[in-house]
Order: sequence, then structure tokens, then C-alpha cells
Amino acid sequence: LIKNKMLNRELSHLSETSRSGNQVSEYISTTFLDKQNEVEIPSPTLREQEKPMSHISGVKKLTHSSSLTSAALPRFGVKTEQEDALARELNDLNKWGLNIFHVAEYSNSRPLSCIMFAIFQERDLLKTFRIPVDTFITYVMTLEDHYHANVAYHNSLHAADVTQSTHVLLSTPALDAVFTDLEILAALFAAAIHDVDHPGVSNQFLINTNSELALMYNDESVLENHHLAVGFKLLHEENCDIFQNLTKRQRQSLRKLVIDMVLATDMSKHMSLLADLKTMVETKKVTSSGVLMLDHYNDRIQVLRNMVHCADLSNPTKPLAVYRQWTERIMEEFFRQGDKERERGMEISPMCDKHTASVEKSQVGFIDYIVHPLWETWGDLVHPDAQEILDTLEDNRDWYQSTIPQSPSPPPDGPHNELESKFQFELTLEGETGQDGDPSHNHIDSHGQEAKREDEEAGEAEEDEIEEKMEDGEESCVPIQ
Ligand SMILES: [Zn+2]
Repeated sequence: LIKNKMLNRELSHLSETSRSGNQVSEYISTTFLDKQNEVEIPSPTLREQEKPMSHISGVKKLTHSSSLTSAALPRFGVKTEQEDALARELNDLNKWGLNIFHVAEYSNSRPLSCIMFAIFQERDLLKTFRIPVDTFITYVMTLEDHYHANVAYHNSLHAADVTQSTHVLLSTPALDAVFTDLEILAALFAAAIHDVDHPGVSNQFLINTNSELALMYNDESVLENHHLAVGFKLLHEENCDIFQNLTKRQRQSLRKLVIDMVLATDMSKHMSLLADLKTMVETKKVTSSGVLMLDHYNDRIQVLRNMVHCADLSNPTKPLAVYRQWTERIMEEFFRQGDKERERGMEISPMCDKHTASVEKSQVGFIDYIVHPLWETWGDLVHPDAQEILDTLEDNRDWYQSTIPQSPSPPPDGPHNELESKFQFELTLEGETGQDGDPSHNHIDSHGQEAKREDEEAGEAEEDEIEEKMEDGEESCVPIQ
């Protein structure tokens, strides 16, 4: 907790000291840090519909045919006229490059139902957990219906993407046979429900507008708590209990796992999640065949929660054409939130002002500060399995960088080794440097803070240099989720 607070303090310092207009540090500190001690004065609010607290809002009555028989069952669980095209796309089910946009197109806009069905069949989970196929289809369709089709990014396509990405990560060679079937079931279920009933606005927006949801969850991981509540509540709908044949202990254990993973998708937990992952990498043990040794529950759940978090932050690691579509969607969602904030006379959240946000710079900053540090650490954990993913990420980063118009005055930091300087931001924690005996050398500490260039001289100049860099806009602005 202390570390976490120090970490917050450090990045908020970064954010306070950088000149206004720089949205990188602002976005990072508002989105990826847990600001426990800050009190925001609520802005004028719009009253949401009143709903009693005893109900989980957002659960709609929808009926899906419970008369699905294996004879009537479509090949991929969803009705479609384009079964052959869908079949071709699903040949990539186990690959990082699967195009989920195509799956949506060929499945009558049912990407989540379709991908869940395909993955559960591929992994034989219906048999293992004796899930009746009609119950399964009914649940996933109901789940998919509770994602908002009119939300630009956080809709069922994103859920399908995170589920399929998790499916691929679960099969990474370094984790071969590490997880139990129940843990695999939990990870896929968590990914599928992890954003259900997302309204297309951030936790902070819900808090600032005194929404019913923020009230319900006391401002803590508001959306993530809600996604979990809805995801589990839907199991109670007619013919939806896909876990009906699990033992009581299995159900309990699955629920605990799923809650842990979905709560970890709250982006304000990112820094501490990454810090713990780095610690795990430093102490990792592998078997003679190179498979990770994760004997204890705590180690396995830690890998799982990071895995789903990685999948949730995987857009920039996908083929560029796919990644660019995700970028368009998230910016559209952000801008709509910005419009709402403007209408209500609220302060517009970082990256949400369509008049000032720079989409390309935001992606570069997002990769440099958040996505690359995470994936690099994941890559160390499962080495060398994630090499291709990292290569794609770095290529995509350079592509976005190349689309930023050249600024009139070139950055003052001279000819660094491009890759070295761009990707060597490390998070170090000021004040926790006693452990290596050298307070000025607060390099690569797994616990913490302060974006820093590895190739610069250690010492007090570093912070200024970062601020300078951020101010000159060389890498500024950050987006996402
Ligand atoms: Zn998500």
C-alpha cells in the first residue's frame, strides 16, 4: 500500500509539473494510477434513472430460444448465411492474428457468442464441465446482448477480442499444462464478461456525475464491480447456468478466480500489477523443458490476472490494420464522453476533447508508457514465446510515430539509439532505493515509479529531462480502455 501511494505521488508530481496541454502524464495518472487521496469536486450532474439498490441495474429480460437441440444447432453456434467465410476465419482461432472484425461480420454481429462457442469446443470444455450446449448458447447470447452495441469500443467485439486473446495466451508454450481446467474455464469466462454492460464512459466520469453505479460501489472499481455482478447475475436467467454441473467447491473456486481477474482489469491497478509481475519475473523458476513452475495458487492467479490484463491491452500488438480499427473506436468513445462533459460544463477528461487530442501521439505515448512495459515484462515471463508479439508492437509504435507530423523544432536530445531510447522507459521508485545501496541509481526498480530513460545519466537531471521531453511534445498524449 505504501509503495502504491508513493507511486501515485510520483506520477501525480510528474503530471502536476508538466505544462498543461501535455496529456500524456495527465492521462496516465488519471487512468493507470489509483488516486486514493484525491478528492474531486463533483460537477453538475444529470440524474440517471432511479433504480433500487437491491437490483443489479442493466440486467434486461431477454429470451433466447431454449429449444436449441443438437440437430438444430448451427455449426458455429450462431445463425449465419456466411458459414464458409466464418469457417475460414475461425481457422485462425488459435492464432494472435485472428481478425475478430471478420468474425463479427460473418456471424451476424455475434462475435462473442461465436468465439466463445468455438473456443469452448476447441478446448472441450462443454464435456469437461458437463455444460449443456443449449444452456451454453443461451448464456453467451444473453451475455452478448448485455454489451451495448451503440458503444464504440467497449462492446461485445472487444469482449470477443479479449476472450480470444486470452485463449491464445493460455496456450503459450511456457505455460503448458500449468493451469487446471477450472482455471482455464475461469480465465475465459472472466474475459467474456469483463466489460459487460459498459456504458462507454470511465469510472471517473461515473464518480463525477454521482451516478447510481458509483453510489452502489462506493467509487471503487465501479465499472469492474458492475461487470462482475452482471456477468454472474445472468447465470440466473432461464437456462443460463452454464456452471450447473460444477461441484460447490468448483463453483466457489471459479467465482473467486473470476472476481480477481475482472477486478484486475481496472486500469488504475495497472502499475501495481506490473510491479508484482516484474517481481515474479525476477524470481521465476522453470522446469527442464522451459515451462514455468507455478506451484502456489497465488502465483497462478497472479499470472492469470496479468494475462487477462495483457489481453485487455493487446490492441497495439495486433496486425496494424486491426489495431487501427481499435484506435478509431476508442477515440470515438473518448470523444463522446468528452462531448458529454462539455455539455454538462464539466472539465473534459484527458484525451476526450475532440478539438485538441492527437490520436497518433496518444498511441505512441500509450505504447511507450503502458503497453510496451507490460508486454516486455510478460515477454520476459514466457520467454521466448512473446517475441513475435513484441516485434509487432514495436513496428506498430514506429508506424504511429511516423504519422506524427514533424515538429518545426527537432527534439533537443540528439541522436540516441532510437529503439534504446524509445523503449527503455523504466518505472523506478524514488525513496525506495536503499535496497541497492545507491540512492542516485534508482534504476529499474520493479516496484514503481517515475518514467525514466535508461540511457540517461542517473541523478537529479532525469526528472527535468522527462518533463522537458513531455513538454516539447515529442511523445505526448495517451489513450485507452
Ligand atoms: Zn476491456
